[in-house]
Amino acid sequence: MNLNTRQQQAVEATEGRVRVIAGAGSGKTRVLAHRYAFLANEVGISPGNILCLTFTNKAAQEMKRRISTMVDRGSVNDFICTIHSFCAKFLRKEIYRIGYPRNFTIIDEEDGKALARQAMQEFGIDRRKTTAERFLKSVAAYKGYEPMQYIQKHLLPCSSSEAPDATVRYLRLQLKQFALDYDDLLYFTLYILQHFDDARKYWTEKINYVMVDEVQDCTGDDWKLLHAITENHGNLFVVGDPDQAIYEWRGANPKIFVDFKAHTDIILNENYRSTPDILEVANHIIEHNHNRVKKELFTVKLNERQVVHLHAKSDKEEAAFIASRIDDAVKEGMGYGDFAILYRSSFLSRQIEQSLLKLHIPYSVWGGVRFFERKEIKDVLSYLRIVATDNDDLSFRRIINLPARKFGDASLKALSAIAEEEDTSLMTALRNHIDDKRFSKPTLRNFLKLIDDARARVGIMPVSELTDWILKESGLGDLYRTDEEEERLENLTELINSMKEFEEGRIDEGDADLTSYLQEIALYTNADRSNDSERVRMMTIHQSKGLEFPEVFVIGLTEGIFPNHRAIRERRQDGEEEERRLMYVAVTRAERMLWLCESEGYMNENGALKFPSRFLSEVPEGMLRVEGKLDPVLKAGTAGLVSMLNQELCEDGEKPWDNGTRVSHKIFGEGVIEGYDASAKSYKVRFNASTRNLLPHVLTRL
Ligand code: ATP
Ligand code: MG
Repeated sequence: MNLNTRQQQAVEATEGRVRVIAGAGSGKTRVLAHRYAFLANEVGISPGNILCLTFTNKAAQEMKRRISTMVDRGSVNDFICTIHSFCAKFLRKEIYRIGYPRNFTIIDEEDGKALARQAMQEFGIDRRKTTAERFLKSVAAYKGYEPMQYIQKHLLPCSSSEAPDATVRYLRLQLKQFALDYDDLLYFTLYILQHFDDARKYWTEKINYVMVDEVQDCTGDDWKLLHAITENHGNLFVVGDPDQAIYEWRGANPKIFVDFKAHTDIILNENYRSTPDILEVANHIIEHNHNRVKKELFTVKLNERQVVHLHAKSDKEEAAFIASRIDDAVKEGMGYGDFAILYRSSFLSRQIEQSLLKLHIPYSVWGGVRFFERKEIKDVLSYLRIVATDNDDLSFRRIINLPARKFGDASLKALSAIAEEEDTSLMTALRNHIDDKRFSKPTLRNFLKLIDDARARVGIMPVSELTDWILKESGLGDLYRTDEEEERLENLTELINSMKEFEEGRIDEGDADLTSYLQEIALYTNADRSNDSERVRMMTIHQSKGLEFPEVFVIGLTEGIFPNHRAIRERRQDGEEEERRLMYVAVTRAERMLWLCESEGYMNENGALKFPSRFLSEVPEGMLRVEGKLDPVLKAGTAGLVSMLNQELCEDGEKPWDNGTRVSHKIFGEGVIEGYDASAKSYKVRFNASTRNLLPHVLTRL
């Protein structure tokens, strides 16, 4: 079976509560797969009685694949899945008990936002004050506070139809379509297990063994389900690594894993994935976290190439270097699939994608969308295309009602018919018939004027400025800002950066105009999509969890971007430590060769200078081979930036919030600060129904 003694022990400890706590690459996931096979092959348990939970759907597929090669009795069953997908399977069978149809719908975040907007609008909530995202957060907090009660009160078909506020209205809208969001899947499952004895009896007797991978990222409610489903026999096998807990920001609670009282505890400490150098870099970094359970990892593998700190003069140079390194290595016999490029935030992929395309290197963006195919990018490019020519019907359809201009499907249909009959484009048809009663709306007139004004600027303004102008004038920028779509805004800024780059490259040639830009960009949007599995993989670090690659580039290691200062501002030390765990995850994905990459230049948002990430200086000097010319002044810059941020946080911590500051509380909802009691360190907060004295840690500033 190819397992070491401790791994074998974990495989064979089938009964009771068993915990494997171990660092990256120590074979936790491998143990899980072997244990499944052991249960099926040696103990004789049917796969239908084993529940094996992974963190993502991709990981579940991979687990199924591995297990199917080991389990001789053919059918590997459906219960190798994520916790949400298990709940969905459970509910398809059981949800009839509370009056829902088997084909209930599952809504994602986007659907949820649409419902939220409807509820908010009906209750006159101004979207500039409370965004749909915040509204959904408050609904989630409301649900999470007493999950069983909210189901009972609002989501059973017999519940009262009165909707006294927007939250209840939102739930009512959900019920109307029998729609469950991801949290509901879990809560509904728990609800049915608690309230229906025969369902509980059936499932707790059916599922005899439960195993969970990456358990450090489970929430308290996930754990409730694990305990509920194993209440008969207690056969719960959990594996995880507290140093890889990277989802506390969305409610995971790794402490439950650390405090878990197991009958059998197994620690694995041999790493089979990485070379000693890579492992040492990882260990040095994670040791900077104070809040952790110390553990050691060793490896008997041999070193290959030293870990590199790649310092480039610009992000363009950083990307070009990476692309050419991959190109060279492939010429020497490596495969494209041996490489992974990891980043903290998805906007960072743009520069790399362009460099890879230039060298015809095939790549895929895992769990994400290629930069030039992202929604907001296509939206803006569609505006530009319409500015360039009236003829682009596809672009017209995309933007005519974005932001909303009361131009619905019916109007579009009518306009299409006219365009068809007159053999013109939609845009021209609109121009010609703007005085028709159907189209004569101020919003549409403004749209025509906007496009014409933009057209008048073509050739005078550089494309980047024109785009900025369009974002402002069309209201598109505001749309993303009001919805607090942070990632979309980052991507738009990055798009404008790419335009500036294009302009710099073309200045001498005098053809940095809109049409040539759109033509160049079309090469990226229509990039080759052949179904080649041999591709360089690009992904966010969050998505890389549990995976491994021979050669890894961690890019954008710039202080502020990674660690992300927003995360630190919001969650202080917890935020910083979670960023560092993310770095630990990134580094430990590498098997043979690791590149830690960053570059000089300016930060996106505010034009401040870029400095190398603090994580790079946490590795002892000499361990990293520096590629590129790294001025010592830059290191001092990092230290300066870190201390400035710490100072700011420290002052912020002491200063009470001003009266009038809007805050939210998990139970009482939104309120306004009316005073501060310095001796009690508590705030007087006025909520809708009452005024309370509360400690700051339960309040979130809005
Ligand atoms: P992570 O914390 O990153 O999820 P992990 O602890 O789950 O890592 P695995 O992915 O299971 O680690 O294993 C890491 C690599 O080591 C895999 O390629 C696996 O096949 C290999 N491996 C694990 N145990 C052994 C062993 N006893 N002999 C040989 N190879 C092993
Ligand atoms: Mg794993």
